[in-house]
Amino acid sequence: MSTPFNAIVAEERDGKIKGHLKTLTLSDLPDNDVLIDVAYSTVNYKDGLAVSGAGRICRQTPMVCGIDLAGVVAESRDPAWKPGDRVLVNGYGLSEDQWGGYSQKQRVKSGFLVRVPDVFGLDEAMAIGTAGYTAMLCVNAIRDHGITPDRGPVLVSGAGGGVGSVAIMLLAKLGYQVAAITGRAALGDYLKSLGASEILDRAEFARDAKPLEKERWAAGVDNVGATTLATMLATTKYEGLVAACGLAGGVSLPTSVMPFILRGVTLRGIDSVQAAMPRRLRAWADLAALLDRDKLRLATSREPLSRVPELAQDILAGKVQGRVVIDVNA
Ligand code: NDP
Repeated sequence: MSTPFNAIVAEERDGKIKGHLKTLTLSDLPDNDVLIDVAYSTVNYKDGLAVSGAGRICRQTPMVCGIDLAGVVAESRDPAWKPGDRVLVNGYGLSEDQWGGYSQKQRVKSGFLVRVPDVFGLDEAMAIGTAGYTAMLCVNAIRDHGITPDRGPVLVSGAGGGVGSVAIMLLAKLGYQVAAITGRAALGDYLKSLGASEILDRAEFARDAKPLEKERWAAGVDNVGATTLATMLATTKYEGLVAACGLAGGVSLPTSVMPFILRGVTLRGIDSVQAAMPRRLRAWADLAALLDRDKLRLATSREPLSRVPELAQDILAGKVQGRVVIDVNA
């Protein structure tokens, strides 16, 4: 009989699928080829949806939640990985149809694993997590479109959250002027310390925009969707690009074709979950090269596994600042 360990497991209770703290043993875990001693996970917006039951993220139950994990390989049937290797997983259906990172131990498919860059501790890998890796995918979409810092400021919505905070750090490091949209005026100094040069009120963007408005931004990173994304598109400069990854403000998109056909604006969808491995490896190498670890620390808090259900509610209520690392062994 193996030693029991803790996990946050989503199960149906009173007609709703919700996550709660539960004890598992190794024999409960799926028969994937790599066993990981998990050190840290994170709380992303999607984790909030999964654990609270507010969104239908878990496609089967019981489901160990947590879309991210970082830890050390304990056993591997794949010769590419050996005990002691420091690894992380982002997405790939964790917390959807694959058991996830809110567990002290987990067995995952070897094809999901990314080696943690040497410069990062396991906790830092999760301070980045899916949110930070998605921010990097957004920034790379902007760079790959040929948008250089001299083209003008880059707008980041949902700036006080995880993706937003890391996007600001990365863009500022690359020399872009960053304008940050937030609904929390009190976060102004925090956002400036990450590298934002201008703080804008969420209300300026969460409105019905005209099809085209004054050209202001060379590019954008959008975490919010709905009217905010529509206003970003209407105010993006000629041949600019908005990288859209989020839905914190809603899933609609009340826009017109005008930004696309009269200004050549590109709306670039960003998906982190099924992104191909070469894009992930590039993003993690770029994060290792670009991210200022002191700023990352400034944007990160640390919490024990038992607090995940409460933090899930907080992130959906827009109360979380930056990134939350979950110490699964605390
Ligand atoms: P966070 O909750 O940390 O950040 C979201 C931020 O959006 C909040 O901090 C808040 O920022 C702002 N916000 C919240 N509610 C509203 C609202 N009703 N209207 C306008 N703004 C709002 O989440 P994450 O950073 O983890 O994720 C951000 C978004 O990106 C989420 O929608 C998430 O699902 C999505 N995402 C998508 C990925 C993909 O692969 N496509 C991967 C990762 C995330 P402030 O208070 O500063 O205004």
